[in-house]
Amino acid sequence: MPLRYTLLPLLLPATLVGVLVAVLGTPGNAVAIALVTLAGSLMALGLSRGALQRQLDSLTRNTRGLAEGAGGVPRPDPDQLEEVASLEGAIDSLHARMSARSAELTQESRTLAAVLDSMAEGIWVTDAEGTVVRHNDALHQMLRPGGGGPIVGQRPLALIRDDQLHDAVMRACHEGASSHLELALEGLFPRTLAIRVTPVGGDLPGSAAVFHDVTELRRLEKVRKDFVANVSHELRTPITAIRGYAETLQGGALADAQVAPRMVEIIHRQSERLSELVEDLLELSRLESREVSLKLTDVSLAEAAARAADTVRPKAEGKGQTISLQVPAGLRAVGDSRAVEQVLLNLLDNAVKYTPAGGRVDVDGACEDGRCVVRVRDTGLGIEPRHLSRIFERFYRVDKGRSRDMGGTGLGLSIVKHLLQAMHGEVKVESQPNVGSTFTIFLPQAVPARSATG
Ligand code: ADP
Repeated sequence: MPLRYTLLPLLLPATLVGVLVAVLGTPGNAVAIALVTLAGSLMALGLSRGALQRQLDSLTRNTRGLAEGAGGVPRPDPDQLEEVASLEGAIDSLHARMSARSAELTQESRTLAAVLDSMAEGIWVTDAEGTVVRHNDALHQMLRPGGGGPIVGQRPLALIRDDQLHDAVMRACHEGASSHLELALEGLFPRTLAIRVTPVGGDLPGSAAVFHDVTELRRLEKVRKDFVANVSHELRTPITAIRGYAETLQGGALADAQVAPRMVEIIHRQSERLSELVEDLLELSRLESREVSLKLTDVSLAEAAARAADTVRPKAEGKGQTISLQVPAGLRAVGDSRAVEQVLLNLLDNAVKYTPAGGRVDVDGACEDGRCVVRVRDTGLGIEPRHLSRIFERFYRVDKGRSRDMGGTGLGLSIVKHLLQAMHGEVKVESQPNVGSTFTIFLPQAVPARSATG
């Protein structure tokens, strides 16, 4: 209601009083005048109060609707009091500003969640009591790899049973102290986590923790340490023998015509072993660092097998073993001829080495499913199933003593595996203890010249 309608009843009694004083001109009628004035004022007050109440009720309803998210602009009321209208305008503009700010906050929160979820590191944030209030996807993956219950609302100890982590979170929450720790989680998915716990910072209470999964890093470190330890050990054995015999010779054995030649022979054998070991190590390290660039050409597997067999034949004959070759002359693979020969040589050398006197070694080849396949089969000692998956690892031997006695470096099969991988091939093994072993290599087949030209 515009203000003029409210003021009219207030002005009316005053006008009446003025007219009456002018007409009657006597103060004796003052009581009547006062009564009329009072009646008019009460009437005006009643009218304006009722209108104000109605408009405030309507404003309350509209404001509550806005607060509850009910959109829509209220219909303009022509009778609305100016004060109420301006209050409503202020509420509307406040609501518009709050809506814009709320949209900004929602966008910021989405961006933050997207950034956190795209990180490889797990993150959780706790409140001042150390209860997790927020985390990212990576943390869920680390702590609940197989699914599991919610993380929000949990205390650190309920998530990772480790006092160190619990203490670190409490120190960050209560003392503002940062810590760094590394935990090895056991169970179905064992993991090593490097964790940094810090206070949230600023005037916010609580703590934040960043979890790095260092499982692979630690595994590689262990592999490297084991490798260095193995190399040192492997090198030390022949060096110790060489030095020992050389010193004995210097100490007088050189003059002993019976003993000296045997010692010199051992020194020679051990130095050969040392050089084989160094050669194998260098070959392996070149292969692993991909320094070796293999020249992939069309390789005759029959020729490669024949050359490898020629190399080991003296040793096989010395043990009364027979080597039989059944590789078709036309079987041609894509590979590096020196590498293919090296692979077959290592497999044949092992077959002869781990087959007792009088045994046999058969090499046959074929084309299967579009790939070249060569099998090296022996009637030797065989390998127990539990060792089969590990014999291609560097320095892994089923029987360390026997391998060394037979001049093995423990690197032959590892070299075979790497060479074949570099030629897009693979190696498999089947074996039965005391019956024999079959090592099978697969290589891509070379396209015959006739088909290549159509
Ligand atoms: P090594 O120099 O010791 O022969 P390799 O890497 O060539 O090293 O082989 C790893 C281990 O696998 C050997 O120590 C041996 O125990 C086992 N092995 C390899 N080839 C044969 C085979 N033909 N018969 C039985 N065991 C074998």
